[in-house]
Amino acid sequence: MTELNASKIWQEALEVLERKIATVSYEIWIKNLRPFGISGGAIILVANLANNKRTVETTYKKEIKDALASVSEFITEFVVVLEEDLSSLDDFKLDSIEELQPLQEDILLFNKLYTFDNFVIGGSNQIAYHAAKSVAENPGGSFNNPLFVYGGVGLGKTHIIQAIGNNILSANPKTRILYINANRFVDDFMDSLRDDSRNKQGESNKKFRAKYRQNVDILMIDDIQFIENKGGSQDALFHTFNDLYQHGKQIIFTADRHPKELKDMNDRLLSRFQSGLTVDIAKPDLETRIAIIKKKAGKLKFKIADNITEFIAEKINTNIRELEGALQKVMFYCNLVGKPADDLDLVKEALRDYIDATAGELSMDSITDAVAGYFKVAKSELIGKKKSKVVAEPRQIAIYLIHEYLSPPLAAIGEFFGGRDHTTVMYARDKVSNLLETDRTFVRKIDDIKELIG
Ligand code: ADP
Ligand code: MG
Repeated sequence: MTELNASKIWQEALEVLERKIATVSYEIWIKNLRPFGISGGAIILVANLANNKRTVETTYKKEIKDALASVSEFITEFVVVLEEDLSSLDDFKLDSIEELQPLQEDILLFNKLYTFDNFVIGGSNQIAYHAAKSVAENPGGSFNNPLFVYGGVGLGKTHIIQAIGNNILSANPKTRILYINANRFVDDFMDSLRDDSRNKQGESNKKFRAKYRQNVDILMIDDIQFIENKGGSQDALFHTFNDLYQHGKQIIFTADRHPKELKDMNDRLLSRFQSGLTVDIAKPDLETRIAIIKKKAGKLKFKIADNITEFIAEKINTNIRELEGALQKVMFYCNLVGKPADDLDLVKEALRDYIDATAGELSMDSITDAVAGYFKVAKSELIGKKKSKVVAEPRQIAIYLIHEYLSPPLAAIGEFFGGRDHTTVMYARDKVSNLLETDRTFVRKIDDIKELIG
C-alpha cells in the first residue's frame, strides 16, 4: 500500500497559507507544524506546544482547511496532535492511495467512493439522485440532456455526477468521459487563444476542439459558476455544447446556484443550461444526516452509539462535507484514547471547534427570527402558508435578507417559507431590492433589521 504523501500536500498548502496569513503569525503558528500522515481524509499535523495546537485549531481553522482543499481533492480535515502524544499514534492506520484515488489530470479516474451505493438518499437530494440515475441509464437521452445539478457547497454535487461516471464506466469501460472543473475549461480556452496568437496556425485550437468535442462521449463540467463574467469561455462553451448535443452526447453541469442566478452570463448559454433536466440538492434534514453518519461509520467499521450519532447530526447542520469532517474527528479522538464512540463528553471535546464556530451562526431560522422580532409578528406566520397582508412585507424582507446573507438555492428558501415556489422567492427579493433603490425610509428599516441580525 502506498501512503498518500502528507509532506507534499502540506508543503503545497503552506505555500497558499504563507500568502494568506500575516507573516509574523505564519512564522509563529503555522510554519512549525509538521505533517505526520493522513488518516480518514484528515491530515495529521504535529505541534510542540499546547498553545500552538489551540491557536491553530481555532484561529486558523478556516484558512488551513481552505488551503488544503485548494491543493488536494481528498483532504477535507486536519487534526493537530501534540508531539508528546505522538507515541499513541504508532499503530494508527494511514490511508492508502488505493482507497483515495486522485483525479489525474484529464484522465478519467473518478473517486471510487463516489458511487450511487454510497449516496444516502433523503428529501433534500432524491430528485437529483433519480435524475442522475436516469442519465446513467440513458446518457444523451432527450429528456435528460443536459443535466444541471445545483446546490450549496458540500451537499453532494460532485459525488452524484461522479457516481454517474463510475456507473457508466463499470458497464462500458470504453466510454470517453471528460470530467473537469469549469476553471480548467477556462484555462484551456485561454491557452488556446494565447498559443494561437503566437501563430501556431490554430494548432492549439485544434487541440481544444479535439479534447472537448471529438474525443468525448460525455462531458461533465463541475462548478460552472466559475465561468461567470468570462464571455470568451462562455462562447466557446456554447459552441462546444451545440456540437456535442447535436451528436447526442450527454452533457452534465453543476453549479452552486440555479442557472437564473448566475451573473453576467451569455443568454443563449443560459437557455441551453435549462433546456434539459435542472435539479437541486438542498441541505439534508436531520434524518438524512443521521443516515449519512451511520453509513459512513459502518463502511469504516467504526462503532458509534446512537446518541452520539444523533448528537453529531444535530450539531452539524451546515453540509455533508462538514458532517464527514466531524465524524473523522470523532473517530480520530476515539482511536487516540482507544475507546469506542460512546462517551458524549469525549465527543464534545473532539467537536469543540465545530460547535463553537456554529453557535452564533446565521441561518434561515435566525434571520427570520430577527425579522419577526422587528415587526412583532409570529415567526410561524412568516413561514406559514397564509397570504395575510400584515406579514407580506416582513416575509419579503426575510426572504431578501436570507438571500443576501446566505444565498441558498431559491427553491430552498421557498421550501422554508411554507413551500412557496422559486418565482415567489424571486419576486420578493426583487421587490425589496427595488424599494431599497427608491425609498430612503425603507433603507433605514432594513439597516435596523440588519443590526438586529448582527
Ligand atoms: P459538492 O460538490 O456539492 O460541494 P461533494 O459532492 O464534494 O459536494 O460532497 C461533499 C462530501 O459529502 C463528499 O465526501 C461526499 O461523498 C459526501 N456526500 C454528499 N452527499 C452525500 C450523500 N447523499 N450520501 C453520502 N455522502 C454524501
Ligand atoms: Mg463539488
